[in-house]
Amino acid sequence: MYKRNLPCSFRSEGSSLRVRINVTGIVQGVGFRPFIYRIAVSNGLAGYVRNRGDAGVEILAEGTGQAIQNFLKDLTEKKPPLAQIHDILTAELAGKNEHAKFTIYRSSEEAVLSGSVIPPDVAICNECLAELRDPKDPRYDYFFITCTNCGTRFTIIERLPYDRENTTMREFPMCSFCKKEYDDPLNRRFHAETVACPKCGPQVYLTTRNGEPLAHSDPVREAGRLLSEGAILAVKGYGGFHVAASAVKDKPLLALRKSKYRRAKPFAVMVRSLEAAETFAEVTATEKALLASYARPIVLLNKNRHFNLSPLVAPDLHNIGVMLPYTGLHYMLFDRVDDAAFVMTSANPPNQPIVKDNAEALKTLGDTVDYFLFHNRKIAYRCDDSVTRVHGNRNVFIRRSRGYAPAPIMLKEKAKHCVVGLGGELNNTACILLGNKAFISQHVGDVENLETKTFLQQAANHLIRLTNSSVDAVACDLHPKFTTTTLAQELAEAHGWQLIQVQHHHAHIAALMMEHAVDEIIGIACDGYGYGVNGEAWGGEILLGTRSSADFTRLAHLEPQPLIGGDMATRYPLRIAAAILNKKIDVAPWLLQNAAHLPHGETEAKLLLHQLKQTSGTVETTSCGRILDAVAAVLGVCYERTYEGEPAMKLESAAITGIDALKLKPTVNGNVLDTTQLLLAIFENRDKLSKADLAYSAHVYLAKGLASLAVEKALENGAKTVGFSGGAACNELLVSLMRRTVETAGLRFLVHEAVPVGDGGVSFGQAVVGGFWGF
Ligand SMILES: [Zn+2]
Ligand SMILES: [Zn+2]
Ligand SMILES: [Zn+2]
Repeated sequence: MYKRNLPCSFRSEGSSLRVRINVTGIVQGVGFRPFIYRIAVSNGLAGYVRNRGDAGVEILAEGTGQAIQNFLKDLTEKKPPLAQIHDILTAELAGKNEHAKFTIYRSSEEAVLSGSVIPPDVAICNECLAELRDPKDPRYDYFFITCTNCGTRFTIIERLPYDRENTTMREFPMCSFCKKEYDDPLNRRFHAETVACPKCGPQVYLTTRNGEPLAHSDPVREAGRLLSEGAILAVKGYGGFHVAASAVKDKPLLALRKSKYRRAKPFAVMVRSLEAAETFAEVTATEKALLASYARPIVLLNKNRHFNLSPLVAPDLHNIGVMLPYTGLHYMLFDRVDDAAFVMTSANPPNQPIVKDNAEALKTLGDTVDYFLFHNRKIAYRCDDSVTRVHGNRNVFIRRSRGYAPAPIMLKEKAKHCVVGLGGELNNTACILLGNKAFISQHVGDVENLETKTFLQQAANHLIRLTNSSVDAVACDLHPKFTTTTLAQELAEAHGWQLIQVQHHHAHIAALMMEHAVDEIIGIACDGYGYGVNGEAWGGEILLGTRSSADFTRLAHLEPQPLIGGDMATRYPLRIAAAILNKKIDVAPWLLQNAAHLPHGETEAKLLLHQLKQTSGTVETTSCGRILDAVAAVLGVCYERTYEGEPAMKLESAAITGIDALKLKPTVNGNVLDTTQLLLAIFENRDKLSKADLAYSAHVYLAKGLASLAVEKALENGAKTVGFSGGAACNELLVSLMRRTVETAGLRFLVHEAVPVGDGGVSFGQAVVGGFWGF
């Protein structure tokens, strides 16, 4: 009964018609109904507009055919900035006109259509920022000032349709002033569900670390002053808590670094302005645009020569995560201080999701912080900051979360089945693939325990409900013991969904293929660990992926290397380095010399040397991450991995000023890229060449070796495209070196643009395999 997209014409353009129009996309919470009201009135239409329970908007338009045509034109051409229209479905109705004027109706609970979603949380708009600063404005200094064009959405909405009573704003009834603006079609806050003012809205307050209130007339600026003086604060924001501290004083940072989980992990900073960022970092035009965008992600910027923040902010790295303020509260923190930036890091205890509730914050953060800056609005759904990096002019998602989720990634084709992907284990997300839309959840994190499993399940369920999806299948990893695999099995059983297991690196490559709509790809998938087909540890793979099959072919890989001590070897890369070198030389003197870098010193070194003599029973890995780790250990760049990716990240930083002084030619033995000779060459030249040159040369060897091998396989298989995915694709050096090799060979080189490059993109890849090719 509905016509998809715009109708060319109606029965008669002059006579009076009644047309029902359903709009799907991101159309609730973005000022869409007021917009519809305005264009309906300006085109002389009567009828109504209302939100629906399926996140869409329903319009009844009564008027001449010509007026309705003009209205539909305005609908697509003049839509509000945050709105996304996916489909406009029209149906001509019989019967007489019933409406004398155009009205915004109460929302209907009706949920028939699927695929619409509510908008992400976005940053304060310029108009609200100006009002925040205007002493004559009733919302002067109001920390949570918002309008239809800005503010929180995703993290306050409990259920649809998007009305105030379905959000955590329902506890704050509007005062007469706010209500007047809310009811005024000409006002920017017409039907803005987050509208509030100092009189009626959420309140902000300071407490001690024990939760005892500290009376202060200006708690936000007092918090800024405390930060500047060296106190550590937990600051509640839109999607969770930040732990905040001075970015120039060592003392609070040393205190934060005491926790064994944060010994070296880089902290992101919030800068007061773009100009302030330029005092310590290089900021390109692309990076500026990204930093100042509505999404306000954390962008990894290269430190500049004048870097003057504490070295404890991002130790031994060439870059630093920077974001601009995104709420009134954040802007106000900087008002009475001179600090260019504050450390603002997600408050999540180890292996736990970001803290979102006040009581939970007191319990888990009380030992870490000196004060809390609370507000009294509940957070319905947690959402961490997004993290991006710019390679050349291309944006790379390291974490796609606040400002982006749950907006869908639009695909060029429609999937056969609706599939929920549950991802892998680390840096995880969930994904709902529905038609040509992929809804990737906010960052969930490492799913290893009950809390994160519950968060993953909630995030997936919330997305299924929001998009009104009817799921056919659930996709997960091949690993039999992952928490996500068990969860997928439980869900499949409980709902009668098909269960699809997808190999980790195949998921990476499938994600790349579908994001770019290519039928065939030679995919290079490099990361730390993925469960291989026979239970082997994979992580440096060259796969052939095609659209004609739900399967893949493993064409080549890095040389398997011994992982002695399993997780211990991952934590202390000296172990891997020793095991690799041991294949060629007597490592005893070097290992004993460096024994202090092992947790149990000489005893451990001797035990390791003994284990190296045994030939059977050793677990091996083809991981690219482990090779970078081993190089980092040989060069003394990093001996302990205290956070994921640490040795490899520090190696990239060490390589930034280097050149390929080693000039080692990659060796391939029967589809296996030799990594032993790389490590040996690094080892033998460690006193002859600089650390920077050796670090750079190691990147060249791996990137050129893998890319040349992929090009060779592409030519053998008649493929025109080579792609690079996996956690190692965050590394700008590897990406640019591979791109040069592939493009020089006349082939197309693809990397992710909209999907996270690391394991945050695995849920999408799994859903792609299930939804397009799986069953
Ligand atoms: Zn605004
Ligand atoms: Zn008010
Ligand atoms: Zn991976």
